[in-house]
Amino acid sequence: MQEAEKLISGEKLTHGEYVRLVESYRDAGVRETLEKEAVHIRSMHYGRHVFIRGLIEFTNYCRNGCFYCGINASCKNTKRYRLTKEEILKCCSNGYELGFRTFVLQGGEDLYFTDDIIVDIISSIKNDFPDCAITLSIGERDYASYEKLKKAGADRYLLRHETADEKHYKLLHPSGMSLSNRKRCLYDLKELGYQVGAGFMVGSPKQTSDNIASDLEFLSELNPHMIGIGPFIPHHDTRFANEKQGCVELTLHLLTILRIMFPKVLLPATTALGTAQHDGRERGILAGANVVMPNLSPEKHRQDYSLYNNKICTGDETAECIENLRVKFKNIGYEIVCDRGDYPTD
Ligand code: SAM
Repeated sequence: MQEAEKLISGEKLTHGEYVRLVESYRDAGVRETLEKEAVHIRSMHYGRHVFIRGLIEFTNYCRNGCFYCGINASCKNTKRYRLTKEEILKCCSNGYELGFRTFVLQGGEDLYFTDDIIVDIISSIKNDFPDCAITLSIGERDYASYEKLKKAGADRYLLRHETADEKHYKLLHPSGMSLSNRKRCLYDLKELGYQVGAGFMVGSPKQTSDNIASDLEFLSELNPHMIGIGPFIPHHDTRFANEKQGCVELTLHLLTILRIMFPKVLLPATTALGTAQHDGRERGILAGANVVMPNLSPEKHRQDYSLYNNKICTGDETAECIENLRVKFKNIGYEIVCDRGDYPTD
């Protein structure tokens, strides 16, 4: 309980205290205390509002070989696709009709999408939907590239750091990838004025409480505007096919801790959480999350953006079923709003 009290009072925790805080997810009393605090903090900054983002998974080609990911370059059975600019704009106009005011362009690191091509896509979206925010989630690029995309009108960038522990990072990624470059990207993005999102998978293979404590410490140092966490879910075509799925209860506990650590952070109840448990997203909102990202990708490609087994891509996960989600959230006391949902600057 000591760590929980320290967290609530805003005191800085030691590494060992973060480890114990992470592990306290098995203690119902601690969880209840933290959850009450997280809900109170979220309501001070966001009331009962939940922001929506329309997720457009525009390419599943990827040059990287992240061992956990079902669209990594060595997954030979993945049916590859990329959307044209016209298809992306069509997704945006469908989303706009449904009330979305943020579009998230996410994809593998696909070399086809040069800076010029992405700049053209961003400019076209901004031209057609000037009141909407654009979030990019297209991986590691250099400073000059991030700068061009920002100048073209991109507002936000999601790039999970995946794990803040060097040794653990090497267990999850091939030798050509490095935690230092991942972190460099995040700091570059911040310097360029993006609203930046970092994050990690909960229960990724060989992850320890010590690793998660390092994630919390890294996030404190970076101080991002958005944090994406969700349970690791194995993908049948990767080397981690037989690993255990990440724990839903621990994910919820961490959402609660993150809300207390970063009161104004934009915190999604992720698709992975909704895949791991049927009411995962509602439980995520009740734990302190305030964002959901329904899928706006063309239906015929949704199955192919298969990051992990059984990824939900039908029913209430789809942007078209936003009304169902609206009712579900209303039933737990929350309201989906039609808003860009920027990070509050005051
Ligand atoms: N290529 C971009 C990047 O590297 O940030 C964005 C796409 S990447 C597929 C989006 C996120 O999916 C990753 O940051 C990772 O955390 C998550 N992801 C990948 N495989 C996963 C798995 N097996 N279980 C849960 N999440 C996974």
